[in-house]
Amino acid sequence: MADPLLRRIPPVHQLLTEPPLKLCEAQLGHALVREQTRRYLEKLRYQLRTTGKHDMALDAGTLACQIAAWIQEQGAPRLRPVINATGILLHTGLGRAPLAQEAIEAMVEVAGGYSSLEIDLESGERSQRVLAVQSLLCELTGAEAATVVNNNAAATVVTLAALAAGREVIVSRGELIEIGGSFRLPDVMAQSGALLHEVGTTNKTRLEDYVQAIGPQTAALLKVHTSNYRIVGFTEEVALRELARVAQQHQLPLIHDIGSGALVDWEPFGLRGEPVAARSLADGADLVLFSGDKLLGGPQCGIIVGRQGLVSRIQKHPLSRALRIDKLTLAALHATLRLYQRPDTLAQRLPLLKLVTTPPDVLRERATRLAEQLKNASTVRHAEPVADVSYLGGGSVPGQAIATWCVAIEPRTVSVDQLAKQLRTGQPAVVGRITRQRLLLDLRSVFPDQDQSIVTRFQELNESEP
Ligand SMILES: *Cc1c(COP(=O)(O)O)cnc(C)c1O
Repeated sequence: MADPLLRRIPPVHQLLTEPPLKLCEAQLGHALVREQTRRYLEKLRYQLRTTGKHDMALDAGTLACQIAAWIQEQGAPRLRPVINATGILLHTGLGRAPLAQEAIEAMVEVAGGYSSLEIDLESGERSQRVLAVQSLLCELTGAEAATVVNNNAAATVVTLAALAAGREVIVSRGELIEIGGSFRLPDVMAQSGALLHEVGTTNKTRLEDYVQAIGPQTAALLKVHTSNYRIVGFTEEVALRELARVAQQHQLPLIHDIGSGALVDWEPFGLRGEPVAARSLADGADLVLFSGDKLLGGPQCGIIVGRQGLVSRIQKHPLSRALRIDKLTLAALHATLRLYQRPDTLAQRLPLLKLVTTPPDVLRERATRLAEQLKNASTVRHAEPVADVSYLGGGSVPGQAIATWCVAIEPRTVSVDQLAKQLRTGQPAVVGRITRQRLLLDLRSVFPDQDQSIVTRFQELNESEP
């Protein structure tokens, strides 16, 4: 009975010539629209076969309209809020550091109007766009000068381009890291036009290795903080201070890429071994490069601090213009840096620091309460609080675990993977981690006011389940 009905469905190629789908194609591309149209027809055929509806309009025009609306509704992937229950605080895939309220307000303030971005309001003359943050960065790191570009990878490229294009930069083999998303630092650096002169071996590089490599072609020495991994065991690396001595003897600039960018020592907050920008400069680095959205807890950007002469050369390089930050980033960075002027209130104001310093007992209490609430959800077979460890992520303090508490969930009706997917695709999305056939929701990276949203999300799952 359904068969003649099915035969009335126009073929994909015909539907694609209809105006609504043509319009869709212009926005989303041919391949996606063709594929989605095919999927829609599949669903339609299934529906017709199972329900046998006879009164459905199946002409090409009407169908194309419906399909176009469905494709739009499904939408191209868009940015959605996520509750980060992975326990990775600087998750690159989830946007790294959450911004402080002060930074958000500063962005809102400049977003809708004009601002004193490149004009000095006192004199009415042009001033540089980073002027506002430069003095703060100098104050906080003890540097002579500072500049800011789009991210730390950009900071590396523009620094090497300005100081070493066509010449050599000496770097240890043990420090040539991949920074995630399969981007390798050596490839990024090569884009600057500088030639990497690798010295030493993966696990051992000595001072003599650097000294022997220095020649007339050498433009700079580079040290990279191997932030996302550690080589342990039979290893040797040259301390920054020793390297600084050699650089000075040969009148070469020493560049230190510290990656994670701590502006203050995180040791009192329980994280050892993160290089602090001010200390690198004090130990003799001429330039220090770091990210704005890792430990600093600000917006995505790459910060360069150090000697005036070198920073000026970088600022004058054409790439600085191509890689400059926008007014929103500038506003957010400025507001974030100002929080560092009050170290006593930093842990309350900077969300990242607030999350890191939450006492495990507080997380245990929240996990216990949440587990009790989630137990009642019909998709949950069992929920209990469990102690575990979180990580900073984002290429900071590898292997350094932070004590945490999670809610461990065993689903009743679906598999763990299915439950994880349901939570991931909901609104707001909840992303956890799967360990031994249980879904762990790690509260170290969840803000306390999000606990209730997690409960609500589980209740919504119930309603959609039989
Ligand atoms: C993270 C990192 C980078 C890249 O920084 P982005 O801000 O993501 O561009 C470069 N170098 C090191 C050592 C890093 O840890």
